[in-house]
Amino acid sequence: MSSGDTRPETRFYGAGVSPGIARGTVNVVTDDFEEVAHYRISADDIAGEIGRFETALIQTRAQILEMQQKIAEAIGAKDAGIFDAHLLVVEDRTLIDEVLRKLENDRYNVEYVFQEVATHYADTLSKIDDPYLRERALDIQDVTRRVVRNLQGKAPKPVLSMAQPHVLVAHNLTPSDTATMNRDHVLGFATDLGSRTSHTAIMARSLGIPAVVGLHDVTQKLESGQEVLLDGYSGLLILDPTPETLWHYGELKDRKRRVAEKLTELRETKSTTRDGRHIVLSANIELPTDVDTVVENGAEGIGLYRTEFLYLNRATLPTEDEQYATYRKVAEKVAPHPLIIRTFDLGGDKIALGMNTDDEQNPFMGLRAIRFSLEHLDIFKAQIRAILRASQAGNVKIMFPMISGLNELRRAIGVLDECKAELQAEGIPFRVETEVGAMIEIPSAALCADSLARHVDFFSVGTNDLIQYTLAVDRVNERIAHLYEPTHPAVMRLLKMVSDAAHAHNIWVGVCGEMAGDLTMVPLLLGLGMDELSVSASLVPRVKRAVQTLSIPECQQLVADALAMDTPTEVLARCGEVAQKHYADLI
Ligand code: PEP
Ligand code: MG
Repeated sequence: MSSGDTRPETRFYGAGVSPGIARGTVNVVTDDFEEVAHYRISADDIAGEIGRFETALIQTRAQILEMQQKIAEAIGAKDAGIFDAHLLVVEDRTLIDEVLRKLENDRYNVEYVFQEVATHYADTLSKIDDPYLRERALDIQDVTRRVVRNLQGKAPKPVLSMAQPHVLVAHNLTPSDTATMNRDHVLGFATDLGSRTSHTAIMARSLGIPAVVGLHDVTQKLESGQEVLLDGYSGLLILDPTPETLWHYGELKDRKRRVAEKLTELRETKSTTRDGRHIVLSANIELPTDVDTVVENGAEGIGLYRTEFLYLNRATLPTEDEQYATYRKVAEKVAPHPLIIRTFDLGGDKIALGMNTDDEQNPFMGLRAIRFSLEHLDIFKAQIRAILRASQAGNVKIMFPMISGLNELRRAIGVLDECKAELQAEGIPFRVETEVGAMIEIPSAALCADSLARHVDFFSVGTNDLIQYTLAVDRVNERIAHLYEPTHPAVMRLLKMVSDAAHAHNIWVGVCGEMAGDLTMVPLLLGLGMDELSVSASLVPRVKRAVQTLSIPECQQLVADALAMDTPTEVLARCGEVAQKHYADLI
C-alpha cells in the first residue's frame, strides 16, 4: 500500500454460505434501471427529443470507445473485444427505428421510450435458447443504462467487463443465474438477499465459488471498480482491506490449504466410525458435470442428483432421449456406486421457462416437486422412462421429492409402474428391480413415516425443507435466517421418528439436506441412526474425517441428552462439545 493511502477498510457482515476467500474488483450488477421520468410531449417536442437521443448515442459511443481503449492498454486487446458488441448496440437500426416510431406514436419523453423499447428487446433475446443471443441481451442492458444516464445528464457509472475476473455483487441471484456463472470470471459473489439453504447457495458450494449472502443493502453501498475481499467462511465482505487484513487472510488461506491437502489423503479410506459402523457417505450434485468432483473427493456414489437443473436456463424441455443420455453417463461414471436420481423438483425458487408461477403467493408451499410432476404427467413420464432406461448402465435408484403422504406416494409409484409396463411392451430394457425411495421433507411425511416405509426401499431426509416446514421459516428469507434452527427439539423428534420407522421396516435411511454436511450436526445424525449422509462433494473429505473420529455409543448418548433438552441452543452447544472434542481443526 502506498503511504498516502489511509482509507480505513469497511466490513459488511452476512452469512458465509460457500467457503473460500476471493479478492478482487467488485462488479455491482443491478437489475433495476435508473428511475426514469415519464411524461407526455407535444408534436412540437419530437424533433428536440430525437436530437437529445442522437446526442446521447454519440456520447455513449465515445464512452465505450474510451473504455475499450483503457482496457486494451491495461489487459490486452482480446478482453477489450467485448466492447465491440456494445458498440453494435448503439448502432442497432431495429432498436433505433423502434424508438423513433414510438416517439411519434406514443409521445412520451425519449428516455422513457428508449428504456421501454430496449428492455423489451433484451427480454425477448434473453428468452431464446441461444447463448449468443443471451449475451446480446446483457450487452443491450449494459448499453441501455449508459444511454439513459447520458440522457439524464449523469456521469457514467464505472462498469467492469464481465469477461474479467471479478467479485460479483447483486441484490439477489437465482439458482439459474448461479448455474450459468463462469467460474473463470466470477471469483466470488455477495448478495443483499439469500440464506444458507437456498439453492443459489447450494449451487455456489457445488461450483466451489466463495459466497456471502444476506448482506441487506450492500449493493447500495458499493460501486463497481472498488477493491474487496470476500470471506465465504465467516460471511464477511471487506471493502478496501488493510495490509493487516490481507496478511491475516493470506495466513488463513495457507492453513486451509494445508488442511485440504491432508484431507485428500482420506480419499481411498472408508467412512467407518471408530467402533466399526460403516456410514455410506455420498455426494449431492446439481449438474451432470459435477460428477467428476464426486469421484475426486472419494464419495461412495451420488445420494441426491437434483435433476431439475436440467430444465432451467432453456426454452424447451429436455427430451426423454437427452435425459437418458445424461443419466446414463453419470451412472457409468459412479458405478458400481449408487446414483440416486431425484425426479425433478421444480417450483419454489427453481422456475423453468413456461411455468406459470405469477399467481402463487407461497411458491414453496405451492405447485412444487411431485405435485407439479403429477399434474404434468407427460413431462414426468418422459423423465421416469429416461431414468429406467439408464438403470441398465449402473446402480441407479429413483427418488420422489416432497412426498406428503401415502396417496401421493402411491400415485408416483403408479406412474413408475405404468412407465415400466410401457417399456416392457416396447421391448426397451431396464432394471426391473430399480430401488425406489421417498424424500422425507414435509412434517406430515415424517409423522406418517411408518406407513410410507412399507412402500419404498429407502428414505432420504431433506432437512432443508423439513426444517423450513416444521418451523415455518422460509429457507430463502435472510430476515428470519436466525430462526432456522436444525437443532430445534421438534426437528430432532421428527428425525428420530423417521429413522425408527425406517429401521422397523428394514429399509435404510439417509440425510441429503445441508444438515448432513454440517460438521457440528454429524454426531447427532449418527446417534439418530442415519445409515447414509449425502453432502456437497467438496465436504465429503471433512465429513469422512468426522465420521472416522466418532463412535456410535457416544453419538447415541448425545442424542439421549439432546432429546431431554428443551431448546435449540442447548442442543447446539452439546453437539458443538462433541465436535470440538474430536475434530476442532475442521471447524
Ligand atoms: C432438502 O430439502 O433438504 C433437499 C435435499 O432438497 P432441496 O434442497 O433440493 O429442496
Ligand atoms: Mg427439498
